[in-house]
Amino acid sequence: MKTRTKVVVIGGGIAGCSTLYHLTQEGWSDVMLLERDELTSGTTWHSAAQVTNFGMTQTMVGLKSHSIRLYKELAEDPEYPINYHHADGGIRLANTEAQMDGYRHFASMARGMGVDFEVIDAEECARRHPLISTENLIGGLWDPLDGDIDPAQLCQALARRARQAGAEVHRHTPVTALRQLNDDTWEVETPKGTIHADIVVNACGYRVNEVGAMMGVHHPVASMEHQYFLTEEIPAIRDLAHRVPLLRCPISDYYSRQEKNGLLVGFYEQDCKTWGMDGIDPKFVNALCPDDLDRVSDVLEGAFARMPALMEVGIHTVVNGPITYTIDGAPLVGPIPGKRNAYCIIGLRAGLGEGGGHGWLLAQQIVHGEACYDTWVIDPRRFTGHANVELTALKAIEDYQNEFRFHFPHEHRPAGRPMKTTPLTPVLAAEGAEFTVVNGWERVDYIKPTPDFTETLGFRFNEVQAVVAEEVHAVQTGVGLTEVSGFNRFEITGEDAQGFLDRMFCGAVARRAGRVGLGYLLNHQGMLKGEATVAHLPAGATGAARIWYGSAAASEYHDMDWLTAHVRPEEDVEIRSLTNDWTILVLAGPKARAVLAEVARGDWSSEAFPWLSVREAFVGIAPAIVMAVSFSGELAYEIHVPNAQLYAAYRALRQAREAHGLRLFGARAVDAMRLEKGFLHWKTEILTEFDPFETGLDRFVRMEKPEFVGKAALLARQAEGPRKRLVTLVVDCADRWAQPGSSVMLGERVVGTVTSGDWGHRIGRNLAMAFVDPEVAATGRALEIDMLGTKYPAEVIPAGPYDPEFARVRS
Ligand SMILES: Cc1cc2nc3c(=O)[nH]c(=O)nc-3n(C[C@H](O)[C@H](O)[C@H](O)COP(=O)(O)OP(=O)(O)OC[C@H]3O[C@@H](n4cnc5c(N)ncnc54)[C@H](O)[C@@H]3O)c2cc1C
Repeated sequence: MKTRTKVVVIGGGIAGCSTLYHLTQEGWSDVMLLERDELTSGTTWHSAAQVTNFGMTQTMVGLKSHSIRLYKELAEDPEYPINYHHADGGIRLANTEAQMDGYRHFASMARGMGVDFEVIDAEECARRHPLISTENLIGGLWDPLDGDIDPAQLCQALARRARQAGAEVHRHTPVTALRQLNDDTWEVETPKGTIHADIVVNACGYRVNEVGAMMGVHHPVASMEHQYFLTEEIPAIRDLAHRVPLLRCPISDYYSRQEKNGLLVGFYEQDCKTWGMDGIDPKFVNALCPDDLDRVSDVLEGAFARMPALMEVGIHTVVNGPITYTIDGAPLVGPIPGKRNAYCIIGLRAGLGEGGGHGWLLAQQIVHGEACYDTWVIDPRRFTGHANVELTALKAIEDYQNEFRFHFPHEHRPAGRPMKTTPLTPVLAAEGAEFTVVNGWERVDYIKPTPDFTETLGFRFNEVQAVVAEEVHAVQTGVGLTEVSGFNRFEITGEDAQGFLDRMFCGAVARRAGRVGLGYLLNHQGMLKGEATVAHLPAGATGAARIWYGSAAASEYHDMDWLTAHVRPEEDVEIRSLTNDWTILVLAGPKARAVLAEVARGDWSSEAFPWLSVREAFVGIAPAIVMAVSFSGELAYEIHVPNAQLYAAYRALRQAREAHGLRLFGARAVDAMRLEKGFLHWKTEILTEFDPFETGLDRFVRMEKPEFVGKAALLARQAEGPRKRLVTLVVDCADRWAQPGSSVMLGERVVGTVTSGDWGHRIGRNLAMAFVDPEVAATGRALEIDMLGTKYPAEVIPAGPYDPEFARVRS
């Protein structure tokens, strides 16, 4: 065993084997895999090993398509063929129209990734799967490429190819300790000796936190017990000319696939159980948990009713094993927050289907710093400090119980709520606020018109539309107040802070005390990495002169890692997170100035405090940092207040209610208004798949700057011309909005993908933003958007149709 290598991958299940193989594919052959026992002896060996193409985002569909392509190629390798039932097909069932809408949307979204799902009715479901009854069934989603694979053979095939490319695989080699050296490389300790590695990868399945502890981190991953059984031969299957397709049932929470001439049926019971919360027996190897079919009796009945043939055959094997879950159901694949040269590929609950793709995207990140898709949906940094062991367990249970029930737009499930609150959360709740969740923070979504108001979740406009319209109207004509909890905020100090930021941003950075500016950060490929406001705070009661860096709520760990990785050893730069200590109150609307002037001393006129200014003030008795910035497109102020004084500031502002008709509003109204202004959201429009020119951010780029991160790559891209363009469209449709991911069509050709859509209440139009092919990006271009299976006419219009001169924010 060698003692020096580039990468040590820890764990030889599908996650580790796929990562190792793909590292070699990306050109790194000096890599090793260490497995404590035998390959696949964790969860992988007993997996039901279904391989599906379904995903709720294009990144998930794309990485699963990669798995399918790869597995097919491996299966057809004459030197080492493996068993893969490719393209048996699969059906996801539905018994509500809202679920069918979801499937129609996912079909539109997947088409943009070259994947053809089909939405079929109940009779067609039964025609394709002759064992099922159509009782209580409306239809389903057909995935033609679904299948299943032999998990052990798959891992052996990947390890074999990696070895052929120069990688080493060591079985019976547990990692017992990890030490990071001063140069950020790692010492990896095993009973066979110590290995010095540049990079380590945690691919340890349900033992993820044993290895996490070795590097001082806790990963938000919990294991659940999960069972399936195998039946005796079913005559109806034996006599069929084709294999039966896979089945996924969100009505009764089970799945099935063909196994020999019987069925494998797996369950997601409500009465479910976490596993290994108090530690895992070191001898739990190639092992299973005790059978417990009583626990699944609720869902078993549903499966029997759908497939009556099950009642006529015996069960010959039960498998109960640990399966890992995270806080939002998606795995954690990418850099480990707060660590250098450390990655993970963990929390895989569908690791056989997804593992090929996850290993592919991870290897790209390790070797190139970024993958071909934006990987935020699986980025380990998407949860911040709240992602503790208890929350993870609660969310794992909830997610398991809802395995096949996708989230509807605006749906936030109750487990683990409220997780992060401000002193105002109960106050706003008492005012009638309905909350959305942003990175664990409860944030006002809208104010309910009556205490018992509830939203009908779905993919079409509903009763919340009128509520939002009223909030927008109040902000447009009078003044509104909302709380923005959890906004990410770093304080950046030191002699070299300005120079450092100049290098990090691709455009001009605010330099003068009292000024605020918006800027963009690129990665080394010249693509968009981040978006932040930079505010130069003058010295005052809350501190000396300093710079505040403000960005999206979920970006705290991501941005901190990116910024700190770029501070040069000789630079005097200190970055401190204030994210949990301050909260923003936003005052917006033409009367915002009058309200502010009433509660805060000083001259707030547009001459003394113009748009993009920042100053200290007291709002009532609460110290505050006030910024003249607007995401709504109306005259607006962001009032940043320390949490301890937040209630005091709120009370002072709230007292203006009577005099100025101040009204509370929420994030739903803000989102509708920002679309009318052409303002972008990080990880919605601001993605690592596009550069700033493609994203329409030309005015935020200064190519004449001598240096900024990503400049060389951006120059090269500029020479090649754009591959896509972000455009705004008006859609001729009134009952639904364009969901992120929907396909933009020119005839039968997909020419783009929607990033956001919503009703623009102030201009009275249905709006969407989309990345489209450059040749269809011109203003006036007529296109169509596939919205829930129907193509609606859409026309490209200039971005930001509301108040394009920005007169209102400057007023
Ligand atoms: C009953 C059941 C059915 C399933 N059905 C499906 C399905 O149909 N389709 C699907 O896609 N997924 C399915 N899954 C999930 C899937 O099996 C897992 O997502 C996948 O196997 C996880 O692979 P992994 O590599 O992450 O973890 P594992 O397979 O657990 O591999 C982790 C490896 O790390 C090793 N390791 C741990 N600690 C150390 C250490 N200190 N040093 C060295 N090595 C270490 C372990 O020995 C182990 O081999 C199912 C799971 C279960 C339980």
